[in-house]
Amino acid sequence: MHDFKYKNSRLYCESVSIAELAEKYGTPLYVYSRRTFLDHYRKLRDAFKSVKPLICYSVKANSNLSILKLLVAEGAGLDIVSGGELFRALKAGASPRKIVYASVGKTAKEIEYAVKSNILLFNAESLSEIRMINNVAGRLGRKQAIALRVNPNVKAKTHKYITTGHKQNKFGIDIKTAKNIFLNRKDFANLDICGIHIHIGSQIIDARPFVKAIKKMIGFAALLKSRGIILRYFNIGGGLGIIYSGERPQTAGEYARAVAPLLKKLKMNVILEPGRFIAGNAGVLVTKVTYIKESPGKNFAIVDAAMNDLVRPSLYEAYHEILPVKTRAYSSTGNIRTYDIVGPVCESGDFLGKDRKFINLEEGDYLAVMSAGAYGYSMAGNYNSRPRPAEVLVNGSRAGIISRRETYKDLIRQEVS
Ligand SMILES: *Cc1c(COP(=O)(O)O)cnc(C)c1O
Repeated sequence: MHDFKYKNSRLYCESVSIAELAEKYGTPLYVYSRRTFLDHYRKLRDAFKSVKPLICYSVKANSNLSILKLLVAEGAGLDIVSGGELFRALKAGASPRKIVYASVGKTAKEIEYAVKSNILLFNAESLSEIRMINNVAGRLGRKQAIALRVNPNVKAKTHKYITTGHKQNKFGIDIKTAKNIFLNRKDFANLDICGIHIHIGSQIIDARPFVKAIKKMIGFAALLKSRGIILRYFNIGGGLGIIYSGERPQTAGEYARAVAPLLKKLKMNVILEPGRFIAGNAGVLVTKVTYIKESPGKNFAIVDAAMNDLVRPSLYEAYHEILPVKTRAYSSTGNIRTYDIVGPVCESGDFLGKDRKFINLEEGDYLAVMSAGAYGYSMAGNYNSRPRPAEVLVNGSRAGIISRRETYKDLIRQEVS
């Protein structure tokens, strides 16, 4: 979080005061650090340099075109999960040869769009989907490369809604079925089934489940090799955890030290799909205290951001640190109080933080919800007819809008009446 720091009791993003951005652009406001995005991308790239992976940034973490362009210009590929994300990826100027596409429910239309766009690989998640890609490719007169997303059946310690690599999750194909598909690959005349993909979950802070899943897949690749099936792509997915509060996640270096030597021996093209690792700590959500409400036994700071702007606390019980944009002096007579930081949406689940200690908050104060760069704006919606916030990208001492605040007119743009 080194690009969001206090100077003279004011919070800065790089060299720009967050209070000044809030005054200029209004709140709620997403503020991103360009340098943090690039730093995190480069950390991973450098840690894995012995295997020269294709790093496909996971678009769903933060899909803003300016962010995608920034990473694409740095050499990143993109990991997409829908036709809409493919549209964004191409708009951002990504080479289709660096785009990989996962999702359990790709429709025929989405598949056609991706085949026509000449993407590098589908990560196929079921036999039915494989048949569908085969049919679509045949109709278009194409041979399409695909990898099988294998469900390695490992448990990753993370929130139950963001684990994806256990047999009870909807993702991927079990090893036995995958093996049969590989052995019968000639049945799919229009496909080049040439890779293995895994993605076991998100916000995983311990390298062990990754290592376990990767070792399982290396064993699987060896078994296939013994049957004469030589693969070209080995995609280890994303899922690297970040620091929201007290976590001690594996660093890019530790992760690479644990798995890069194994990957190097495979002599395959290695693909990584980090999302949160690159974007999570590159952004904050700035909000203003509208009211302070003191109820028996509880103080509420009612702010102008809500679950529609950042749903992670409501959806995953996720913890985001919340910091004052300007700090107040501590007084030994005791001016520290505990607040629930809540939004105006008509849901009891609408909160950004519970039982948070602050030196007295006042109406009009700005707060920064930290580590909101991933799965923040990309999950935002319009519930309660709330226009989505603006997004600002900071680059050194400069800042510019990368997404305008929605207007009331935007809310009804596509409605027919
Ligand atoms: C969401 C997703 C990712 C990125 O996950 P992070 O936890 O943000 O790194 C990577 N691969 C696939 C297939 C995904 O669905």
